[in-house]
Amino acid sequence: MNVLVTGGAGYIGSHVCVELLEQGHNVTVFDNFSNSSRNVLERISQVAGKRPSLYEGDLRKAQNIGCAILTHKPDAVMHFAGLKAVGESVIKPLDYYETNVSGTVNMLKAMQAFNVNHLVFSSSATVYAPPTTPDDLPLTESSALGPVSPYGRSKLAVEHVLADYAAANPYASIAMLRYFNPIGAHPSGLIGEDPKGIPNNLLPYIAQVAVGKLPHLTLLGHGFDTPDGTGIRDYVHIMDLAEGHLAALDYLTAGFEGCFAMNLGTGQGHSVLEVIAAFERASGKTIPIVEGTPRPGDIAVCYADASKAQELLGWKATCTLADMCADAWRWQSRNPEGYGRRQ
Ligand code: NAD
Ligand code: UDP
Repeated sequence: MNVLVTGGAGYIGSHVCVELLEQGHNVTVFDNFSNSSRNVLERISQVAGKRPSLYEGDLRKAQNIGCAILTHKPDAVMHFAGLKAVGESVIKPLDYYETNVSGTVNMLKAMQAFNVNHLVFSSSATVYAPPTTPDDLPLTESSALGPVSPYGRSKLAVEHVLADYAAANPYASIAMLRYFNPIGAHPSGLIGEDPKGIPNNLLPYIAQVAVGKLPHLTLLGHGFDTPDGTGIRDYVHIMDLAEGHLAALDYLTAGFEGCFAMNLGTGQGHSVLEVIAAFERASGKTIPIVEGTPRPGDIAVCYADASKAQELLGWKATCTLADMCADAWRWQSRNPEGYGRRQ
């Protein structure tokens, strides 16, 4: 198949590109490199033995995504392009709605115009209302929705757009994958997560402390109602996540019409202290810790019920937290500056 991967130069998109190429698909990356490096394309080629095509463009420009779809005639689109920083979304909400929501509408119009029906969309566990009691967990696809940030609301808005679009278009075939906490890297150590500036998320932060780029990790809250007092999340290996996308694509192209939402997580939670300990074991480094306070809106516990993905797609995460840390460390230690200077 020809697959257009928007945001294919980014963290998750690049790993999915490798899987698609390795399974024999033709891949075109659509990206404006606002949060990624051009160097990733060479790395993808090294890992997969085949280079994806590139259409450099901006999703906010309808003509760019229209031309990309007209030129490359994809059978399916995997849609990763978007803005994803929760804190930034509070300060710049219009940027988030413009890129995430209007950008997706631009893309859908082009897909409709050129009869491209299959779409896999990167949604997020942030679309759920924060779990407040143990009865709220694990989060299933029918758990209450109620994002608390402009970022999360932009993701939920896209889900509504996609559901309405599918209801009006009988051939639309759409998977909305709600990721929990993707971490880790390709086991080759050639591609991985390369955040701009100071990382917002736990794993890349720990990895940069381990490699000596940051002095210590700030523990954002130690008074949560959890066994060790630190926040618990459902960390899922990026390669498991990538395989989930391939399974979703197979499901769509096997004849599914309509639109569904699906969790991609392991179903298991790990605390911050457990993650630190696992990373220390994987890297042989000590992670100095400084106590801090929770970020606004930080929740104690969040993990998925991942049974729908297993039932419908036959997909189940298989990697352990130790695997995730070992692969993240291989990437970080071999590429302390990530992909290098962004061009
Ligand atoms: P990322 O920032 O690494 O990748 C996104 C890519 O999209 C980047 O290469 C960026 O340059 C590109 N992009 C951004 N705006 C664009 C535009 N206007 N036009 C064209 N390209 C544009 O992010 P990621 O971690 O790979 O996340 C991919 C998707 O998954 C995002 O939509 C994100 O919201 C979602 N998601 C990520 C996580 C996570 O923890 N990483 C969790 C849940 C959901
Ligand atoms: N966390 C932390 N220090 C950091 C970043 C994160 O202690 O520098 C904690 C955070 O409070 C949460 C967990 O690590 O309990 C995961 O945070 P992350 O931002 O990676 O994921 P999210 O909270 O968005 O699910």
